[in-house]
Amino acid sequence: MIDFAIPADLAAERDRVRRFVIDKIVPYERDPRLTAHGPTDELRQELVELARAEKLLTVQAPESLGGRGLTHIEQAVIYEAAGWSTLGPVAMNCAAPDEGNMFLLSKVADPAQVQRYLAPVVAGYQRSVFAMTEPDGAGSDPAQLSTTATFDGENFTINGRKWLITGANGAKTWIIMARLAANPHLPEGPTLFLADGDQPGIVIERTMNTMDRNYVAGHGVVRFDDLVLPREALLGEAGQALRYAQLRLAPARLTHCMRWLGAAERAQSIAIEHARTRTAFGKPIGEHEGVSFMLADNEIALHQCRLTIWHACWLMDNGQKARHESSIAKSFVSEELFKVADRCVQVLGGIGISDETVVEMIFRDMRAFRLYDGPTEVHKYAIGRKVLRG
Ligand SMILES: Cc1cc2nc3c(=O)[nH]c(=O)nc-3n(C[C@H](O)[C@H](O)[C@H](O)COP(=O)(O)OP(=O)(O)OC[C@H]3O[C@@H](n4cnc5c(N)ncnc54)[C@H](O)[C@@H]3O)c2cc1C
Repeated sequence: MIDFAIPADLAAERDRVRRFVIDKIVPYERDPRLTAHGPTDELRQELVELARAEKLLTVQAPESLGGRGLTHIEQAVIYEAAGWSTLGPVAMNCAAPDEGNMFLLSKVADPAQVQRYLAPVVAGYQRSVFAMTEPDGAGSDPAQLSTTATFDGENFTINGRKWLITGANGAKTWIIMARLAANPHLPEGPTLFLADGDQPGIVIERTMNTMDRNYVAGHGVVRFDDLVLPREALLGEAGQALRYAQLRLAPARLTHCMRWLGAAERAQSIAIEHARTRTAFGKPIGEHEGVSFMLADNEIALHQCRLTIWHACWLMDNGQKARHESSIAKSFVSEELFKVADRCVQVLGGIGISDETVVEMIFRDMRAFRLYDGPTEVHKYAIGRKVLRG
């Protein structure tokens, strides 16, 4: 059966989330603690406490950890509402990278690791990072991983350099990808490790200056200088990091789509209002076909994006990995929503590039979406290879 109906209780919760974001979170968009390097930890904690008070914190987490264990489709509906403000997912603790990290840890971490590294993130008291990308190694091609780990039977020692690591400054739960060298105890190859952000050997060189500012603490350049970790730091099985990264990425790239869909709808609503009220050449600009067609193109894109997301979610809720469909969704949605944001800037005229409205911020923040969790071209590369294989 194909059913697009949103159950009444889910629709009610979606409306409650949207109301919460509009009433309680949007006013923080002009808070000075939303800096060029993203919201500060102080601002994040304040927002998190607002969501906690409304029982809207980390609703996606497994029930065993205090969440509601939302299905992928339910997440799509709730995250779209949360995304109305880029601070909405921060408040509700369903923003990247924590959201994807929590998903991965809930699947792979052992019970002791869950208590130490995952539970405080779910509770909203701690942040997490996923450290994979490197200046001279892993990027689009994670197989180029150059950070090394050695194992002497008791401890791992990690060395290497990473960049674009979201939230690095101040995060406590670290998931680190490194290449385990041949050793007599464990399989070699790309491996995930867990670490405490404040332990010696993790050096935050700097926070990068980037055009986006929606992620808490921005994006860091990080060095591992003889980072020593005990055997218990191994996350999952040695040599399996690329498999775990895939496990994380398929749903994580979809949740990006869901949140950005909400932000693009916000931009569209502002553009519509402007097109109704601003006049030029004797009538509201929306009555000029050039403008109404831009708004129509946006409406078509928003609808198509939602359907694409929902289909991939439906596949995953029915037990499929949906790697191909989530690749299609990520490449399509990131490209289309960026065009939506661009057209909204255009409809607003000169103020479109100013911070008189939030459209400018959405446009800048959304640009990075076409790069992270797989640049569009890399998804197309994977889709093309699959198509050619038949
Ligand atoms: C805002 C933001 C946050 C991020 N957060 C994190 C994080 O928390 N942790 C983390 O580990 N990483 C993070 N990243 C890094 C992100 O995962 C990488 O930017 C992404 O994987 C691309 O890698 P790269 O930047 O090294 O680009 P490269 O691998 O150097 O690729 C550059 C370009 O080459 C093209 N290209 C590459 N391969 C192909 C191909 N097969 N076919 C066609 N074209 C191709 C694409 O156009 C691509 O954009 C973040 C990035 C951004 C922008």
